[in-house]
Amino acid sequence: MAASPVPSDVRRDTAVDPVMNPAPGSGFEAPGEAEQRRREAVELAAAMIRVDSTNGNETAVAEILAGYFGSAGIEVELIARDPARANIVARIPGTASGPTLSFVGHSDVVPADARDWDHPPFAAEIDDDGYMWGRGAIDMKNEVASRAAAMASLARTGWRGTGDLLFVCVSDEEDGSADVGMNWLVLERPDIATTYALNEGGGLAYTLVDDRYVIDIAVGEKGTCPILVETIGEAGHASVPTLGDNAVPLLGRLLATLGKGQAEPIDHPAVRSMIDALLGEVGVVDRLGIEQAIALASAKHPKWRHALTSVAGTTMAPTMLHGSSARNVMPARAAVELDCRILPGTTEAEVLEAVRRRLGDDVAYELSVIHGSAIHGNASEPSGPLWDLISSYVAEELSASLMPVLCTGFTDSVYLRREFGTVAYGFSPFASTPSDILEAGYHNKNERVHIDDITLSADFHVHAARTLLG
Ligand SMILES: [Zn+2]
Repeated sequence: MAASPVPSDVRRDTAVDPVMNPAPGSGFEAPGEAEQRRREAVELAAAMIRVDSTNGNETAVAEILAGYFGSAGIEVELIARDPARANIVARIPGTASGPTLSFVGHSDVVPADARDWDHPPFAAEIDDDGYMWGRGAIDMKNEVASRAAAMASLARTGWRGTGDLLFVCVSDEEDGSADVGMNWLVLERPDIATTYALNEGGGLAYTLVDDRYVIDIAVGEKGTCPILVETIGEAGHASVPTLGDNAVPLLGRLLATLGKGQAEPIDHPAVRSMIDALLGEVGVVDRLGIEQAIALASAKHPKWRHALTSVAGTTMAPTMLHGSSARNVMPARAAVELDCRILPGTTEAEVLEAVRRRLGDDVAYELSVIHGSAIHGNASEPSGPLWDLISSYVAEELSASLMPVLCTGFTDSVYLRREFGTVAYGFSPFASTPSDILEAGYHNKNERVHIDDITLSADFHVHAARTLLG
């Protein structure tokens, strides 16, 4: 069931050998080490999936990881604001000062209703095609297991980097409102700051319409800036609708405008990088302009037809409505809340201006940013040592090119970049699980991952630490 155009046996041979044969004295890998690492990665993923950590109970997951690291001789700490929702930090100290790297993850999962699933969501069953099923199989106990197994494997071989290698797995990523996970930890424990971080959000493979094979890497996250749009009319008694100026139908006119149309494209560096990668050449934006470049690039794959146009500007989806508080009163004000998603660097004033341009001036309205709910995204440059390492790995081991993308959703990488200036990417290679299976499973029923991707990711993370930290 491998979706990769590179047969998995070929990929394995080419992927492992150059990675796993370092010079003796720098953590020489004994015969059988790779097999042990891969076996442990799969077992660890299964053990964690069997713990129901639906927005809570993460300490049970952290304890599994702590026991595992302890048996590999790695120093480990559970750090909890809420005893049931512990975060875990493990560290292989470096031999000197130098760039540092963290393997990042989260231990909570979103809810699963077992009635909708073909395999039970907390059983980690592996089917005949090699897929492990369960909540967290792709988001993200798989990656957590791969990163942990890589770290334990490095420790077993006696490897030490120049700088520290950290493993940071936090609670409360999916909801984030309890203030016990990464947003709390970065303030509580500044010593988890690293130069580089590898987290969730990328590594999915796509074959484009021109047969180029690309793998995405999340270089940043969009932010949110919810906006309240209030139409202004005049109140009246509902028994005589022609009197007054009911704000509800006024709002209806604006809704018709808001409910359709694309985000105005913004010529943003992260958008340019995505376009260049999809088109396989640079400079198209300069030559054709942003709109035409987006049209060409988004035609390269069905997924990007919607995703690229959404990523490339300020989206404004109308979601929540407010009308009169009494049925017999036509209100002077009616309102809609817009879920606006914004590119890194977009200001609140720019969002308000974009909404005004969309709404025009035929209807009287007021706009405001919904207080306290804006979260600004950020991004790391698609360049530098970690980028080069991943880019080479993808080219040489997976015969693919790397496509930098901005997540439309949210990950904890935002806090690492904001607090520490960390170069944080979302990347874990998925060469055997087709991207449509991965995308269908996110926060949905029948989440599953091919176990070859769990083992591939464990191998990749060993390679990454060895290459980056020496
Ligand atoms: Zn996640």
